[in-house]
Amino acid sequence: MLQGKTVYIYTFGCQMNDADTEMMAGLLEAMGYERAGSAGEADVILINTCCVRETAENKVWGLLGELKTLKKKRPEVIIGIGGCMPQQPGMADEIAGRAPYVDLVFGTHNRHELPRLLELVYSKGKPLYEVWDKAAVIPEGLPVRRESRLKAWVPIMFGCNNYCTYCIVPYVRGRERSREPGAIVTEVRNLALQGYREVTLLGQNVNSYGKDLPEKVDFADLLKMLNAVDSLWRIRYTTSHPRDFSDKLIKTIASCDKVCENVHLPAQAGSNRILARMNRGYTREYYLGLVERIRTTIPGASLTTDLMVGFPGETQEDFNDTLDLVRRVRYDQAFTFVYNPRSGTPAARMPDQVSEEEKSRRIQELIAVQKEISLARNRAEEGRIHEVLVEGPSENNPAFLTGRTRTNKKVVFSGSESLIGTLADVRIDEGKLTYLAGSLLPAGGRE
Ligand code: SAM
Ligand code: SF4
Repeated sequence: MLQGKTVYIYTFGCQMNDADTEMMAGLLEAMGYERAGSAGEADVILINTCCVRETAENKVWGLLGELKTLKKKRPEVIIGIGGCMPQQPGMADEIAGRAPYVDLVFGTHNRHELPRLLELVYSKGKPLYEVWDKAAVIPEGLPVRRESRLKAWVPIMFGCNNYCTYCIVPYVRGRERSREPGAIVTEVRNLALQGYREVTLLGQNVNSYGKDLPEKVDFADLLKMLNAVDSLWRIRYTTSHPRDFSDKLIKTIASCDKVCENVHLPAQAGSNRILARMNRGYTREYYLGLVERIRTTIPGASLTTDLMVGFPGETQEDFNDTLDLVRRVRYDQAFTFVYNPRSGTPAARMPDQVSEEEKSRRIQELIAVQKEISLARNRAEEGRIHEVLVEGPSENNPAFLTGRTRTNKKVVFSGSESLIGTLADVRIDEGKLTYLAGSLLPAGGRE
């Protein structure tokens, strides 16, 4: 029945959504769907959504507007919308009102049910809205259609228990649920056997991995188990919550040769008053101490972060504390966000919201400060030699190759395509703002 049917999936949001899309693509491929080159020629169009900020939602509404025209031209096309956005209370009704031409609405907890849901849409011939309010079990062994043949996302846990006061994630992704360590090790072993060389372990807070499992296992234990997987070269992980970053974990990262020297450590703010209002569970002094311990125990580690400006009640003094933290830590890179109230979160109900003009002024200042630091840190790499996992031709200039250092910096250099998939030693010639330009050392690539 599905012979020749095609699907196109749009993905918004974080790496967890990228991983979810690969899983949905795998499920559809197993049903016989092929991948369409564009939405215009697909039989099924899916949108995997994000709702962390309003801008992400606005992009989805804009896309739905464009797809309305397509649906008018080709009424037989099935449009499905899933993931975090429909998981919000009242959102399914809003979609029904604003985009009644959508055929399928599903949430984060039933994305693995996609084959059954699609079959129902086809057999009943009418729109289907099915959003579960919580997860049942963690489905294991689902097919995954991965984008890369070298690097793989591996979700190790779902949901979040932290309830930072600005964040919608715990409401749309549910309570923390860790996968069994055995299932993760098996998946990673199979990936290595298929030729994958790097895995990125995903979770909203990987450092609390295992807390909900009956067996006594934590994230450090999991890293040790995965470090023993043959033919795997690199292990990355994201995201680490500073509060749960134990000394045991720091030592484990330092001692596991496959675990890369890059820590993404979202600070969010540099003011203790704002950190408390955000419910982050740490102070700037604790955070700076943690950075110190990481840098002493894991020599050469790069540090990246997420920062937010304009949280309710943030004064100029509080913002100055964030700038001061950034100058003290000297991050390699920072993802900077303007606080955006999310309905249903405590911060959205806080009275002292910061004006949009002030938020915009602060974010620009923060970006300018961080840019200077990122550039200086990349310039400091000049003359150093890095091991690069060669991924393929550079997107901006396909005459060059690109890959990443263990510290997760992008390197662009000249070399033969036969190096793709190998580890190459590259000397850094020039540090740019977002990448390092280098030259391949004569030894070529290693396997
Ligand atoms: N779990 C991860 C953590 O704690 O760092 C990240 C989850 S969230 C998808 C990624 C980033 O989005 C957060 O670190 C935060 O800086 C930002 N973010 C979350 N809620 C936000 C909001 N309401 N407005 C602006 N940025 C927000
Ligand atoms: Fe959101 Fe905080 Fe959980 Fe990260 S740790 S997902 S910011 S609630």
